[in-house]
Parts: sequence; C-alpha cells; structure tokens
Amino acid sequence: MASDHYDPGQHFETQEDCLVVGGRSLKDIAAEVGRTPFYCYSSDLMHKRVAELRKVLPEGLHLHYAMKANPMPAVVSLLNSLVDGLDVASGGELSVALAAGGDPEHISFAGPGKSNDELTAAVSAGVTVNVESEGELRRLMEVGGTLGAKPRVAIRVNPDFELKSSGMKMGGGPKQFGIDAEQVPALLRRMASLDLEFRGFHVFCGSQNLRSEAIIEAQTKTLELVERLAADAPSPPSTVNIGGGFGIPYFPGEHPLDLAPLKPHLVQLMQTAQEKLPGATLITELGRFLVGEAGIYVCRVIDRKVSRGQVFLITDGGLHHHLAASGNFGQILRKNYPAVVGNKMRQGPRESASVVGPLCTPLDLLGDRVELACAEEGDLIVLFQSGAYGLTASPINFLSHPPPGEVLV
Ligand SMILES: *Cc1c(COP(=O)(O)O)cnc(C)c1O
Repeated sequence: MASDHYDPGQHFETQEDCLVVGGRSLKDIAAEVGRTPFYCYSSDLMHKRVAELRKVLPEGLHLHYAMKANPMPAVVSLLNSLVDGLDVASGGELSVALAAGGDPEHISFAGPGKSNDELTAAVSAGVTVNVESEGELRRLMEVGGTLGAKPRVAIRVNPDFELKSSGMKMGGGPKQFGIDAEQVPALLRRMASLDLEFRGFHVFCGSQNLRSEAIIEAQTKTLELVERLAADAPSPPSTVNIGGGFGIPYFPGEHPLDLAPLKPHLVQLMQTAQEKLPGATLITELGRFLVGEAGIYVCRVIDRKVSRGQVFLITDGGLHHHLAASGNFGQILRKNYPAVVGNKMRQGPRESASVVGPLCTPLDLLGDRVELACAEEGDLIVLFQSGAYGLTASPINFLSHPPPGEVLV
C-alpha cells in the first residue's frame, strides 16, 4: 500500500487479530451490546481529538460541538464536558443538550424553519437563537412577548462569498440558510427598537473541508463581513460564530486536514477581533471533526454467496442504519467507506467482496468490491469514519428491521 495512503484504522489498536476500541476487544463489546449491528464510539478518541484542537485554537476562542453530527446523549454529555458550548439544530437536540448539562449561555440554536414550539423552548431555556429570516425574527419576538422574556438573538448571515472546495456548501448565493448579508444592515437597525438581547452573528459557509487554506480564507472573509455588519448592530456583538467545516478523510486519496497552518491564522484572527470587535467571543463550531473518526459501525455477516464470480457478504447492517456509507447521503459518486473484518485484522487470506445489507434494494450496498480478509458467517464487518452522520442521518424505519445498538466506550 502506498505510503501516502491514509488508514483510519491507525486510530485503533488490535489484539490477537481483533480490533480494539477503548482498550476492549470488539468481540467483547459485541457480546456486551448483545446484538449486531451497533455503533461504537470511543471516548478516548474524542478526548484526543479535542486535545489536538486545543493545541491549535488560541486561548479564548470557543469550541462548540454541532450536535447534529451525533446527538447520542452519552456522546453529547462527554463532549459537553470537553468543549465550550453546544450548537443545536432542532427542539429535540435542544432537549438533549439541556439534559446533558449544557449551559444555556453557551448553547445556540440555528436552522431554517424553527417552529413556534421550538422558539418557545429556546426562549424559555435562555439559549441564543440564530435567526434565519425576518419572518423567524418576527415570530421569535411574538414568542418572547407571550412568555414575557427577552429573546437572545444572533443573526445567521448568508455570506456574499462561498467556502471553496467544501463537501457541502451552506452559504453564498441563494440559500435557505441565514439572512442575505446585504439585507442584514437594515434589519439590524430595526432590531434596535425591539425588546431583545442582541448577541451577535453566525456565519456557516459549509462542511467537510479538507483544505486549511480554504478554511482560513473563509474565516478571514467571515470576520471582515462581521466587522462591516457590526457597524449597524443595536449593540456590540458578544458572540461571533465563524463557522467550522473541518473535514475528515473518508476515501482513498483524501488526507487529514492539516491543522498546523490554522494556528498562526487563528492567533491573527483573534487579534483582529479584539481590535475591531472588542468584547466579542469568537466561536468555531465543529461536528464531524470531533466525532467522525471516533466511531465505527459494526455488522455481522449473515450469509456469504458468490454470484457470477463476485463474492457477496450479506450482513445484518445496511443503509437503514448507515445511509452515508451506502453513498446516498449527499454524495455524487458512490465510494466505499474504509472497511475491515474486525475479528480478522491481521491473518488469513484476503479477497475482493461486496458488503451488502438485508434490504430489498440494490442501493443497500455498504462496500462495493472491497479488499477484505476472507469473511464467513458470524464475522464482524467494521466501517470506520462512522461517528458522524451515521445513525442520525439514516432511514431506520425502512424495511422495519430493528434499530442498531449504540455504545460509547
Ligand atoms: C451541520 C452544521 C455544522 C456541523 O458540520 P460538520 O461538517 O459536522 O462539522 C455546523 N454548523 C451548522 C450551522 C451546521 O448546519
């Protein structure tokens, strides 16, 4: 294998041919969960990831966890203890964040189409609402009036630029997210007469970016944009969420994001913010970068068959649990998630096999002719890079199979 090949298995140890997560062998974990398939997340790896980031993030730059990447309550509790705040994107996530002990002062709620019930929950809890439209601000003020409470409001801005080479663009051009930058000054001036607590700005350009230069450019432009907008703000912003978008490598040829160039850039950014936006706390919000590599999806081979020369490993897992690994969650070209046979890590012959699930659709493909140790009935297939947008982004009711287990070890 080429030396520049990134192997996500490097984050895990092996013991007697078996993958180890958090010091425990996969077979033991499977026995404890009592069933397959399951997701397994390593608290160790999350600790390590946050520690790695803290070396790069200047003191005072807040790190938030964007919960939609993985809202498992145990994961949220753990990350809540490691980061400076939580970003939620629904009323359900808000409930989990609060139950996990999240401090409302450091929780923000973004996302288009917040219902009045969600706005009520947000104002009652005292979290910051990142408003995504003028209509949402109007409804938020009505909710505040009904509750007799001052909503905490930040404006989510749809910037007038894009994050280059992002897996998913979420800002720039016409978007359902945020308020177009050019409409923000007038809105800010109107906010001065509203009974609200103005918090600041939120700009999120996109996600799954593996190029530090692109992230640096977007963050620099974000801060410039916020400086311009702040001139019309009803009060100086206390928080400026500069987005995130740090990606993880999934496929051959992709490499981990190089954090080193971010350090001097962020120091500079903080300095600029202190001069131009005194009193504002900068926030970066990350989802998949914190949890994606810490999680695996484990399913069991139920049947093995050969069809016209091609080996099929038919497992009890599939796209109903892990849509992203099947290539149907926003990917343009289907590519294989990195996979191994978790109980045959070193020894034995290897072969090319297709890993499929039990659903009656050809879309239920977890690995298309992947190179694996020869697997038989009962063996455990492991998909790496599965800690983010796994279960939470999957149609678990499709074909009425039971849901997978989920453990944090
Ligand atoms: C989805 C989302 C994130 C997290 O994106 P990742 O790629 O998981 O880091 C952060 N902020 C907002 C506003 C989002 O919608």
